[in-house]
Amino acid sequence: MRAPPIELSRGDLRVPGTPLHLDARRRSPCAFVSHAHGDHIARHDRTIATAATLALMVHRLGEPKRQTKAEHLPAGYRQPFGLGELTLELFPAGHVLGSAQLRVTLKDGRTVGYTGDLCTDTVQAAERAEVMPCETLVLESTFGLPRYVFPPKAETLLAIRGFVDDALSDGATPVLYAYSLGKAQEILAYLSGAGYACRVHPVVHAIDRIYEAHGVALPGVRPLEPEVAPAGEVVVVPQQLAWSPAMKRVGRRRTAVLTGWALDGARHFRGVDAAFPLSDHADHPSLLAYARATGAERVFTVHGHADELAAALRREGIRAQPLREQSQLELL
Ligand SMILES: [Zn+2]
Repeated sequence: MRAPPIELSRGDLRVPGTPLHLDARRRSPCAFVSHAHGDHIARHDRTIATAATLALMVHRLGEPKRQTKAEHLPAGYRQPFGLGELTLELFPAGHVLGSAQLRVTLKDGRTVGYTGDLCTDTVQAAERAEVMPCETLVLESTFGLPRYVFPPKAETLLAIRGFVDDALSDGATPVLYAYSLGKAQEILAYLSGAGYACRVHPVVHAIDRIYEAHGVALPGVRPLEPEVAPAGEVVVVPQQLAWSPAMKRVGRRRTAVLTGWALDGARHFRGVDAAFPLSDHADHPSLLAYARATGAERVFTVHGHADELAAALRREGIRAQPLREQSQLELL
């Protein structure tokens, strides 16, 4: 069997025979970073990413130290460029602001696409995902099980709005638990666009400002203030900071968590009043449809439910397998 054009080695993806790593968690000589979530970033010698992802990385990791000579190489969507013998091109991934898929054209002309985290649905605060045509596809599998089917996003957003309205009319503060990068800005873009006044934890506010600098409007969103009790406002905060000092003036609350994992049922969400399946990942049917749309002849699944997603793709007649660790391949 022909070796995959991308390999998995000690948990990191790379293009064999080249210095290029993909979303490496360890420092690498040259890495493409698909987006700025914590499990995808590290300090590399050379980092290839969109300008928004680089700005979010600097926010999270600090400026590269001068003595390290680290280079940040901003890349735009659909603007192919050379890297040694490779040609690289980024496509929007629809996951969070600046998130990108990467297509690598190898020296022999073969193309391999890497989705990173992908959301094919509309995300208000991120660039809409585009189909990346390629011969070999490396596809994320976070919600790779057949039972992960999200309701239409418009329905989920309306349900969240109903929860907010109910809390406000009962004189309680609606508190929405959302990851600070991506999910928070998506719900804020929706609610602030609908005229709701929103207060956010300072960690969310800092990321909001980067979103605004990259053209995402969040009108009517202000940070929580130590001496001001929110009144008639929606509060958005990461769940682990629900009882942090910044939240001390938030009085009677009604709480809801926003996550795709809400499909797994309420047992995961003890201590909250509601859970809504607002996701910034593609669900199972969307992953299958996306793989088909790329025209890929071969699909390798990574992250999450890789075995189950590969099996589902094979049932659809697509040649698919989970990407295995290089050490395991060598043993075969
Ligand atoms: Zn992510």
